[in-house]
Amino acid sequence: MKSWDAIIIGGGIIGLSLAISLRKQGLRVLIVERGEPGREASHAAAGMLAGSGLEIPPLLRPLAEESARLYPEFVHELEDESGIKVDLREHGTILVSQGREFPGAAELMSIEQLAATEPALAETGISGAGRGGPGGPPPHDQREIVAAYVSERSVDPRALVLAAIKAAKHRNVDISAGAEVKAVLVEHNRITGVETDKTSYAAPVVVNCAGAWAGCVGPERFPVMPVKGQMLAIVGGPKVDHVVRSEKVYLVPRSDGRLVIGSTLENAGYNKQTDVDTIQRLFQAAVELVPGLTTAKKHEAWAGLRPGTPDALPILGETSLKGYFVATGHYRDGILLAPVTAQIMSDLILVNAPHHNFASLAPDRFS
Ligand SMILES: Cc1cc2nc3c(=O)[nH]c(=O)nc-3n(C[C@H](O)[C@H](O)[C@H](O)COP(=O)(O)OP(=O)(O)OC[C@H]3O[C@@H](n4cnc5c(N)ncnc54)[C@H](O)[C@@H]3O)c2cc1C
Repeated sequence: MKSWDAIIIGGGIIGLSLAISLRKQGLRVLIVERGEPGREASHAAAGMLAGSGLEIPPLLRPLAEESARLYPEFVHELEDESGIKVDLREHGTILVSQGREFPGAAELMSIEQLAATEPALAETGISGAGRGGPGGPPPHDQREIVAAYVSERSVDPRALVLAAIKAAKHRNVDISAGAEVKAVLVEHNRITGVETDKTSYAAPVVVNCAGAWAGCVGPERFPVMPVKGQMLAIVGGPKVDHVVRSEKVYLVPRSDGRLVIGSTLENAGYNKQTDVDTIQRLFQAAVELVPGLTTAKKHEAWAGLRPGTPDALPILGETSLKGYFVATGHYRDGILLAPVTAQIMSDLILVNAPHHNFASLAPDRFS
């Protein structure tokens, strides 16, 4: 049986980034991917790098902030090694909130600032921007909307995974595509490799990065469940430069003119179908923010499955089987968290001493 120093189950952004990181440290690495690498959640994502987002659970914020800091270097290396541009955008995010809840780092915007910063939002009917500020008087009109700016980046996740695949190959990471891992192989409570539907591969270290399917690989079962997100992309409407997020919808511009609109959070099992009504609802919510979008053309609709966990936190660490690690459960933030995940998992695997204290993310917290 052919052997490697480490086998990674799953070629999404988490598995690819970790494979590259381990390879850089001299390990011989094999990625075993059921389908084509990078075609599941990592292909479906919007690509917001929302390190300061209020939706990020407090326990995860230090890691999210660190990953956001690591991003320019992460992207630079991938672009350099692959020759693929991943559309890292620095325009920042405009948050529109009826509840006036903004992260501490956000700067409230006046109507004039909003119209000057993102002209596409000038028509939105935002009525109370900038009034009061944090701790100021509450809005007297329930429908009043205010806006704030936060300095966050975005990336095109499809380009990012293509770059990561090419960079991994460039560094001689082996990839076995079209090979589904059925089980991990164990001898005397120690991992020895993986078994696919066709063959077996040997390694003293195996990392389960199978995203929403991580719980399906035996014998350890992680409580990961798929959370479906439907999205659409449009072209040809008014130019939007910033990521725009409201309670109902978000808009993520790409430099090639597409505008990505998302998304739903659905417990629908492993179903990745889109439905016309939902896509239309998302489009309508986008039009409420930017009325000029009525002239845009629908370009594509799709759905992906986020790896969710019971406490909405990733599962990172070694399992009770020696040599068997897991890095999954990144839910809504796996694109953002890829660089920091690669770093802490490499530290853990190579020197058994991660510089982060992440006991609260360890796999045994569910047992
Ligand atoms: C609609 C939507 C919008 C999102 N927006 C954002 C965003 O704006 N910002 C952000 O940071 N995150 C976002 N996310 C979340 C992000 O996409 C995920 O957290 C991230 O992609 C997870 O990466 P992964 O590598 O763990 O999973 P995946 O990309 O799903 O990769 C897992 C891989 O494992 C493979 N696999 C599964 N089982 C097996 C097996 N038994 N054997 C071999 N291979 C296997 C799969 O085929 C797949 O390729 C979004 C997700 C969705 C769905």
